[in-house]
Amino acid sequence: MRRIRIGVVGVGHLGQAHARILAAHPEAHLVGIVDTNTARAETIARQLQTRVFDHHLDLADHVEAVCVVTPTVFHYPVAADLLRRGIATLVEKPLALDLAEADELVDLARRHGALLQVGHIERFNPAYEDLKRRPIRPKYIEVERHGTFTGRSTDIGAVLDLMIHDLDLLLDLLGEPAVEVHALGMTVFGKHEDMATARLKFAGGCIAHLTASRMSPQPKRKMRIWSAEGYAGLDFCDKRLTLVQPSPQLRAQGLPTRGLPPEERVALAEQVFTRHLQTRELTHSGLPDQLTCELSSFLECVRTGMEPRVSGEAARDAIALAERILHSLRHHAWDNHPAGPVGPDDLPLPLGALFDADADAHADTDPDTDTRKRRAAA
Ligand code: NAD
Repeated sequence: MRRIRIGVVGVGHLGQAHARILAAHPEAHLVGIVDTNTARAETIARQLQTRVFDHHLDLADHVEAVCVVTPTVFHYPVAADLLRRGIATLVEKPLALDLAEADELVDLARRHGALLQVGHIERFNPAYEDLKRRPIRPKYIEVERHGTFTGRSTDIGAVLDLMIHDLDLLLDLLGEPAVEVHALGMTVFGKHEDMATARLKFAGGCIAHLTASRMSPQPKRKMRIWSAEGYAGLDFCDKRLTLVQPSPQLRAQGLPTRGLPPEERVALAEQVFTRHLQTRELTHSGLPDQLTCELSSFLECVRTGMEPRVSGEAARDAIALAERILHSLRHHAWDNHPAGPVGPDDLPLPLGALFDADADAHADTDPDTDTRKRRAAA
């Protein structure tokens, strides 16, 4: 099979993974890498036995495809240069900082006949792929995407950094636009919101409630879907899909609880998840990792001219929705009064400390300590 001549621009946390996978990929020839941190680029190039280029335009002379894995603020200028040269470009998510930039990248790709794919990697999560093969019309969706603070992606907030994954998934699942958007968010560490929550209503009536946070002690990435067909729970971290559907008998008759003696009611309750609500736990371990699948798909699109799974247009639509969420959260009046505090940076003044940190340092933070037990007993 013909190897695609490819390069990577930005070899930081994620870009070095792109470069490592491509260096070992049987369908790729990693021609070179670019990073403004030249020492880092040299080290990675030595490890992967590839070449360092000073600038993405130098690399462009030697390749037919490029992955852009710089901070988001540089996606537009770098990708625009590459697309103008007709180079197939995979841009990490989010496609751009705002809708105007995203629109322009989509337009450049079209005018120059260049392939544009976007790194919405959850589309390659095997649990999500499995869900997509099943007939389901979501009517209520809850999403939680919680990450730990990494110090990276501080050029954008939690909506463009994290929630964008789920906005893309919702648009892909539902295939229709949001007609109502209500959101709020809080800035804790820096210039942009570090947590955000949004309630969306879609054209076909589905309601979605999303929360994204990058200040959680534990990562969590879950989606729960309720529909007439049943319930689907996705754990993106564990790549697990849980499906629950009512048995045909339950659909036809409901649970015959009326007039049952208590002991039979207990027996009935015990059978809920065995007989009446049929459940399947589907795990998807042992498959190639999502980034390898995403890059293999990109290489195939470059080779065959096939439409990418996540096109520039799809990523642009996710940014359009993210902008509406950002607009809503920037206008959220915390005290329900426009003259009061408004938006993620302007929180109401705290009433006081939630707890005394110094006192707590010496007190019982362990639930099994004697003091806690004495208090509970009192
Ligand atoms: P990072 O800060 O670790 O790495 C970015 C690298 O780009 C750095 O090495 C920096 O020196 C280099 N760089 C900056 N400007 C450059 C330029 N003009 N030309 C060449 N190199 C340049 O960031 P990261 O965490 O690797 O994130 C990179 C991108 O990947 C971001 O857009 C982020 O949103 C995205 N990302 C996506 C996922 C995902 O799940 N798909 C996960 C993490 C990050």
